Amino acid sequence: MDKISIKNLEIYAYHGVLPEEKRDGQKFIVSADMYTSTRKAALEDNLEKTVNYALVCEQIKECLLKQSYNLIETVAEKVAETILLNNELVNEVCVCISKPGAPIPMTFETVEVSITRAWHKVYLSIGSNMGDKKGYLDYAVKALKEDVLIKNVLVSQYIETKPYGNVAQDDFLNACIELDTLYSPQEMLEKAQLLEQGANRERKVHWGPRTLDVDILLYDQDIIRTKDLLVPHIEMHKREFVLKPMLEIAPYAVHPVFNKTVKELSDLLM
Ligand code: AMP
Repeated sequence: MDKISIKNLEIYAYHGVLPEEKRDGQKFIVSADMYTSTRKAALEDNLEKTVNYALVCEQIKECLLKQSYNLIETVAEKVAETILLNNELVNEVCVCISKPGAPIPMTFETVEVSITRAWHKVYLSIGSNMGDKKGYLDYAVKALKEDVLIKNVLVSQYIETKPYGNVAQDDFLNACIELDTLYSPQEMLEKAQLLEQGANRERKVHWGPRTLDVDILLYDQDIIRTKDLLVPHIEMHKREFVLKPMLEIAPYAVHPVFNKTVKELSDLLM
């Protein structure tokens, strides 16, 4: 990927744990490597088609002066988020915040924090088999679309499916969603669980009836195996109600464990 960099932008600002740092301020030095594609802009020689680094410098300055933070970690986080949210062409950014005047009674060059943040491609499965099923799915889609840390929400058709497992219950309405997000996998899980709670869901019977179920199917090509999060979703390749709507919106998406596309998994199952 191509990279546009801003190196050592100096901004006088008021971040730090000590009261005098917040009162008197000091010099901060900001660098940002922005990953993008410069090819279209280059071939057309057109500023509109690339990242305008002068504008980004203004965004960084505003970000550092808008509010006073204790930590340069927080400053770096805010700068990365500002750049990713305000520059459609930037997919990933590395931000470095340096504080050469940090209150340390020793000789040192500087202290700095470097972070990398990016948009992540996520696929979700949503389902409901209680009450106003369509209403619950619509609510989840609307809430995802309204979240500033989520963009490019693409929703499959809603399909009616028979219940999974051995519990006698009503038919399901299912769909899959593709989106880009700045949330980490754990934050995405928390978002999914908040959506479920917002739909008055009570966890009573495993695989039992539910107003809204939101599962993370894929998170980039990550393989996550923790106590409360398994990605790719452990059952996705076995479930027709997942693969069918996935086939509609992302037949080319790759399952990183089996190294097969959704189309290939779907051919194996159906
Ligand atoms: P259920 O709502 O019945 O599908 O189960 C939810 C539980 O599964 C939660 O406690 C999650 O921590 C856990 N879980 C593990 N992997 C995932 C995933 N990929 N998406 C959503 N929940 C997951």
